[in-house]
Amino acid sequence: MKGFEYLQEELDQMKEEGTFRELIPLESPQGSKVSIKGKEVIQLSSNNYLGLTSHPRLKDAAVKAVEEYGVGTGSVRTIAGTLAMHEAFEEKLAAFKHTEAALVFQSGFTTNQGVLSSMLTDKDVVISDELNHASIIDGIRLTKCAKKIYKHVDMKSLQEKLEESKEYRTKLIVTDGVFSMDGNIAPLPEIVELAEQYGALIMVDDAHASGVLGENGRGTVNHFGLDGRVHIQVGTLSKAIGVLGGYVATTKTLKEYLIHKGRPFLFSTSHPPAVTAACDAAIDVLLEEPELMQKLWDNRAFFKEGLENLGFDTGISETPITPVLIGDDAVTHQFSDELFKEGVFAQGIVFPTVPKGKGRIRTIVTAEHSKEELQEALQAFERAGNTLNLL
Ligand SMILES: *Cc1c(COP(=O)(O)O)cnc(C)c1O
Repeated sequence: MKGFEYLQEELDQMKEEGTFRELIPLESPQGSKVSIKGKEVIQLSSNNYLGLTSHPRLKDAAVKAVEEYGVGTGSVRTIAGTLAMHEAFEEKLAAFKHTEAALVFQSGFTTNQGVLSSMLTDKDVVISDELNHASIIDGIRLTKCAKKIYKHVDMKSLQEKLEESKEYRTKLIVTDGVFSMDGNIAPLPEIVELAEQYGALIMVDDAHASGVLGENGRGTVNHFGLDGRVHIQVGTLSKAIGVLGGYVATTKTLKEYLIHKGRPFLFSTSHPPAVTAACDAAIDVLLEEPELMQKLWDNRAFFKEGLENLGFDTGISETPITPVLIGDDAVTHQFSDELFKEGVFAQGIVFPTVPKGKGRIRTIVTAEHSKEELQEALQAFERAGNTLNLL
């Protein structure tokens, strides 16, 4: 079919530059080991922090929900697609997060989009960390408010932007709780101090902190003892929670406003019963099986120390996201390919996801990995590093 020639040209260009990527299908369930291209490899690239994608309690809850309620809801939440279980889950989430209310969206991506695009007008300003997630950037693009970007986790830069923003009605500071490419944590205590000084609101996107940081995985706000001082917490149900979805934990006022104005909430069908039931069971698992989070952090310490002992640079990570900094984009992909030959699946991340020359292998260990698997993975990193003369 004609009409797509200009797109094909761009794709060909990407192939020439080596930035064109094929999707890599798994031939097994997600887990610490997965099957790819007929080969069993150690998985170090998933966001399945606690191994909940195949936790028996979540699977049981999902199967029961299908049998009792079917596979779909047949409507958006605001017309005929709100099930009692959707509301019960939101109440459970709000209690878990120590907030007045919680509202679930179809994904973390649409949560950011829905919140940012609806609550800000031309009277307001958003002040955003330069390394925030694409869904925050897109949410901001949809608003008519003034937009200011501060240097990554730089409090002097944030203060300058706040100083320039005094005339606006609502000043909203927005930041990732954990930054997904470097694994560093936003300096929330300092951000809260500044926000309180300037009368600004704070929105934290805890996609990589939900189930990972804070008591029972409540996130970065709880981790820093800041419950009640951050206005909007966004979380995902798609990473450590193991299923699918996003939520905002906030005030009753913002929840009610989003039910009327949050466009993805209004115009996209609600979660199937299996999704909601599995997410609900996941919160019980967070509360009743804290040993999973303990194991995640033990594994993270073991693996990070092993990589550093081998001489790899793991950057500024403070979380189970451990990048192995390589530099050159092509070498980064070669290293990933070499790791695969050695039995490890760890994807390279290069420009434009990270700056040019800051290519890295991003690893995430999970609670499911055994010490033996991690030891095996470290040996693979050593062999691949030697093959490419990186050590
Ligand atoms: C993954 C991610 C999202 C999107 O979450 P989904 O539930 O996968 O849509 C949003 N924000 C950040 C910071 C993320 O890492």
